[in-house]
Amino acid sequence: MPGVAEGTRKREVGRGDRIRPGIWRLRLPLPWPGVPHCNAWAVAAGDGIVLFDTGMHEPGSLAHLERAMDQVNLRLEHVRLIVCTHAHSDHYGQAAPIREAAGCELWLHPNHEHMTLAARDPDAALERRLEVGLQSGVPQAALDRYREQRKGQGFGISELVTPDRDLVPGVTIDTDLGEWSVHETPGHAPSHVCLFQAERRLLISGDHLLGRISLYYDYGYTPDPAGEFLHSLDVVDALDARLCLPGHGRPFTDVHGHVDANRALVHERLDSALGALAGGEPRTALEVQPAVHGEPLTALTGGWWLPETLCYLTHLERLGKVRRTPREDGEPDHWMAT
Ligand SMILES: [Zn+2]
Ligand SMILES: [Zn+2]
Repeated sequence: MPGVAEGTRKREVGRGDRIRPGIWRLRLPLPWPGVPHCNAWAVAAGDGIVLFDTGMHEPGSLAHLERAMDQVNLRLEHVRLIVCTHAHSDHYGQAAPIREAAGCELWLHPNHEHMTLAARDPDAALERRLEVGLQSGVPQAALDRYREQRKGQGFGISELVTPDRDLVPGVTIDTDLGEWSVHETPGHAPSHVCLFQAERRLLISGDHLLGRISLYYDYGYTPDPAGEFLHSLDVVDALDARLCLPGHGRPFTDVHGHVDANRALVHERLDSALGALAGGEPRTALEVQPAVHGEPLTALTGGWWLPETLCYLTHLERLGKVRRTPREDGEPDHWMAT
């Protein structure tokens, strides 16, 4: 964990809580600064459970899941089906060992190349991220430092398992609480889906909708992640859910309010990106970014905030509000208001 001395980090452990009859929150520790836990959700299904999301893989992580399950009298053998909201490590990372222990299927949306490509060739994935940095105007020396820090780091996925079934609209998941429907919600990740139980108006939202608003998009896999995210907010809003079970943090009830707040923040950041280009001078994504987040990048936030800024510029480009200026070889992209 960069920046935090070993020993000062509070030792987090897995924890299980019953949220409602037949629904358990399994809160699992994460080694990430600012994101201390993720949730897996267990929902009763016959003599077992359906497990929505898995937690990430690192040494000891499966024991955290087993400990959280044990606190609510569940065991890995009770898992009848694994359903992943998306293919990020904290939601999919332990799919392989759970599937192995439980002898069950894994269902995931087919647009999971954003994870599979990186898992098959982590060095190439790192180089692609560095190329994005170079195109955005990050100095070569800073990118070299980033490469040194990241090279050879694990990224939280125990083993690649291909889904036994594509998790797409029309597929339903049977539980004791009724059927859950599948709703594609790309933006945060191309493989993202939300699961909805209509009679009880329950939403399993993954990272699409969180209690504490936090915008993140996978950049470089789809044409317009920010635009896709805005559309996905409309999709979830129309479901009229009454209780949201998110991928991080506690369940919350004001689902419309959270959708509105996400929409507002995306529009605010789009406006800020456009505002940064108002002077008429062409600027790089690196130069636009401080206006978007209200502060400049650090080594810790760079890999997150720079792609996010590029997603806003790309969306504005599609709306015809900004354009990329032609660039010389090796030069960063420059953006101009139209
Ligand atoms: Zn995610
Ligand atoms: Zn997550």
